[in-house]
Amino acid sequence: MSIVRVALDVPLATLFDYTVQPGMDIEVGQRVLVPFGKRELVGVVMACERDTEVEAQRIKPVTRALDDCAPLSAELLKLLNFCSDYYRYPIGQTVLPALPTRLRSDEPIVIKPIVSYRLSASGAALDLNELPKNKKVQLLILSLLAKRAHTKAELKAVATTTSASLKMLVSEGWVEEFETTTPTRPLPERVASSHVFNNAHTLTSEQQAAVDAVTQAQGYGCFLLHGITGSGKTEVYVHLMHHILQPCPELGRRSGGQVLLLVPEINLTPQLEQYFANRFPDVALTSLHSGLSEKARLENWQSAQSGQARLVLGTRLSVFTELPDLALIIVDEEHDNSYKQQDGLRYSARDVAIFRASQRGVPIVLGSATPSLETYQNARTGRYTMLPLTQRAAAAAQLPEVRCVNINQTTMHHGVSENLLREIAARIARREQSLIFINRRGYAPVLMCSGCGWLSDCKHCAGKMVLHLKDQRLRCHHCGYQLRVPHACPACGNADLHPVGSGTQRIEEVLQEHFPIARILRVDRDSTRNKRAWERMRALIHANEVDILIGTQMLAKGHDFPELTLVGVLNPDSALYSSDFRAAEKLYAQLAQVSGRAGRADKSGNVIIQTAFPDHPLYRALQAHDFDGYAETQLAEREMAGFPPYKYQAMLRAEGKVESEVYAYLNRARMAAVDLGMAVEILGVVPAALARRANHLRAQLLVQAGSRGDLQRFLRAWQPALDGLAQAKLRCSLDIDPLEF
Ligand code: ADP
Ligand code: ZN
Ligand code: ZN
Repeated sequence: MSIVRVALDVPLATLFDYTVQPGMDIEVGQRVLVPFGKRELVGVVMACERDTEVEAQRIKPVTRALDDCAPLSAELLKLLNFCSDYYRYPIGQTVLPALPTRLRSDEPIVIKPIVSYRLSASGAALDLNELPKNKKVQLLILSLLAKRAHTKAELKAVATTTSASLKMLVSEGWVEEFETTTPTRPLPERVASSHVFNNAHTLTSEQQAAVDAVTQAQGYGCFLLHGITGSGKTEVYVHLMHHILQPCPELGRRSGGQVLLLVPEINLTPQLEQYFANRFPDVALTSLHSGLSEKARLENWQSAQSGQARLVLGTRLSVFTELPDLALIIVDEEHDNSYKQQDGLRYSARDVAIFRASQRGVPIVLGSATPSLETYQNARTGRYTMLPLTQRAAAAAQLPEVRCVNINQTTMHHGVSENLLREIAARIARREQSLIFINRRGYAPVLMCSGCGWLSDCKHCAGKMVLHLKDQRLRCHHCGYQLRVPHACPACGNADLHPVGSGTQRIEEVLQEHFPIARILRVDRDSTRNKRAWERMRALIHANEVDILIGTQMLAKGHDFPELTLVGVLNPDSALYSSDFRAAEKLYAQLAQVSGRAGRADKSGNVIIQTAFPDHPLYRALQAHDFDGYAETQLAEREMAGFPPYKYQAMLRAEGKVESEVYAYLNRARMAAVDLGMAVEILGVVPAALARRANHLRAQLLVQAGSRGDLQRFLRAWQPALDGLAQAKLRCSLDIDPLEF
C-alpha cells in the first residue's frame, strides 16, 4: 500500500495519512487535495510511506494530486519542519501559510503563455560576419539565439531597443516567435548575467574589506555589517550581489547564484525595487511582500522557484521562498521589529534566514547601524564576523550634530521648545527642510476633565482613548473602539475638558500657528491610510515642496531626503523608564535612525532632542555617535539582570473573558513546568503590559534558560501538558524569543 503523510492547515500538531490510488503519481513536496471531515482541503505531502498506524477502515484516499506547480523542495520542507519544531507550532499551520494564497487552494493556476524567440532555419544559416556592423542590437540578439531560445523578457534585458530589433528580425524571417507555458520547472540553462552593473562607486577601504570578507567565505558564515547611517551599506550589498550574480566555475556555479534581500515591512517601496533594477539592468528581479495581489504574489514566487528571478527583494514572509540557486542572503536593518511575526507562527525572519543560510551553506549578511543586542553580542564573541563601517561614504557628508534641550529650563509652546522653533525658522529661511519626530499620532493622547480628573479611558481596554480633533473623535489605538468627543464630562457634567499631551495633529496645529506660511506635511498612519498617499508625499518632499515634516516612526526609516537638515525629537523620555527591558534599545535605534535623516547630502545636519534628562547615558551616547559604548553598557546591565542575549526566553500568553480562567490556566501550566524539574527558570504569572484589550483579560508566564538547547528541551517536555490544558474559551500562544512584553 502506498501512503502519503500530508500537512494540512488545521490546528493539530500532526500530519495526516492518506492512501494513494494505483496509477496516481505523487512526490514529496507536492500539493494534494484530500478529504478532511466534511470538507476537502489542500495539503502538502511531507513524506511517502509504505505503512500507516491508521486503521484500514478509517484511512481515506487522496482525492486529487495537484501538479500545476512544481513540488516544494526537500530543502524548503526541512526549513519549515525546523520552524514548526523550534517555534512549537503545528506543522500544517507552518507549511501552508508560508505559501502564496493561490497555492493553498485547488483552483487551477492559469499560467500566462510566455513569449519566446528562436532562430528560423534561414536565421540559423546566417553568417553574422556578413551582416552590417552598425546593427548592434540585432547582432547581439542573433548571437544569443544561436545558443538557445530566449524569452522576450530575457531579450528585453539586453537593450532598450530590443522590441524594435526583434520586429525587424522576425520580418526578415530569421527569427521566429513561439509560446511556452512551463516556467515553473527550472530552465535547462540560464542566461549568465553579463557584467553590466551601473554607477559603481569606488569602495572605501572599509567597504572593500567587508565585500572581500563575504566573498571569500567558504560555505556558511554570518556577517554583521555594522555601519553608521550613510556609511554605504547599500553599496556593499550591491557589490556583493554583483559578485554572486556572476557565474563562478571555480565554485561549481555555471550560472550565477540567486540573492535574497530581506527588508523591513515599510521599506519595500517601488523606489527600492527601481533602485536595484537600475543598478542591475540585465538581472531578472522580483519582489515579495504583503501588498501584492494574490496573482502577483504567485507569479513572483514561481519566478523565484523556477530560478528565473535572480534577485529577490522581500519582507519577512519571503524568507520562505523557493530559491533553487540561493547563494547569498542579506537582511537589511536586521534589528527591525517587523521581522518578527506577532501571530500564528511567531517566527523571526532574521533568525530563520540565518538557519536557512547555515542549512544551505551560504553566507548571510546582517546590516544595521544599530544592531540588536543579540546580534551584536554574537559578533562581539566571534560567532558572527563583525564588519564595521565607521565613516560616512560620501566625503562631504558629516554626521549630524546632536543636542539636547532641557524642557524644564526653556520656554515651551505646547510641547515645542523655543530653541527648536528658532532652528525651524532658520531652515525655512534657507529653504531647507525640518523633520519633527513624535511617536504619537492623533491630537492628544488623552482627554481630561479639569473638574473631577476624569480621563478618557477605553471601556474595553486598560488603555486611554486618544483624541483625534480633525474628526472630533476619541479612538482607542488598541481595540479600535471610537466615540464622538463628549461636550461635557461624562462623570461630573463639567464642560471644561482639555487635551493632555501632544500627538502629531496637535504639533501640526502648533507649528502652523507659529509659521503661517510654512508648508507642513504630517506623515503618520492616519494621513497615509490611502495606499498612494505616501507615494505622493514622498514626491512632494523630494521636490522640496515641504518645509516641515511631522511624523511618527514611519519617517525614521531609510529615506534619503537631501534638503533635510534639522530633526527635532519630541517626548522620547517615556522609553527611559519603561517596564520593557528592550525599550531603551529600541529608543536608541529609533533616534539614531531618525537622526541619520539629517544632513545626508552635502549639507550638514542638526538634531535637537527635547528631554527632561539631558544627561542620561542614552542621549550622551547618541550625541557622541557611540553605539559601541552604549551597547557595552546595555549588555553589562542585561548580564547583571539575567536578560537576553544572556538568557533564552519563551512566553506563554493567555487571554479570555473571565479573569479567573486565564489565571487558572497559566497557574496550571506553571505547576506542570515546575514539576518537570528541568534546567529552566520559571517566573510568576503576571498581567500583560496591557492587562485588558477588547474586553479580554490578558496575562503571561515567562520561562528562561541559560542556553537555547535547555530551553528547547524544556519546551518539548512541557508541550503535552500545555496541549492537555488548552481550552476553547481561552486564546493561548507560546512565543519563542519574544520581543514584546
Ligand atoms: P547606508 O545604507 O549605510 O545608510 P547608503 O548606502 O545609502 O548608506 O550610502 C549613503 C550615500 O553614500 C549614498 O548616496 C551613496 O551613493 C553614497 N556612497 C556609498 N558608497 C560610496 C563610495 N564608496 N563613494 C562615494 N559615495 C558612496
Ligand atoms: Zn468631570
Ligand atoms: Zn480599547
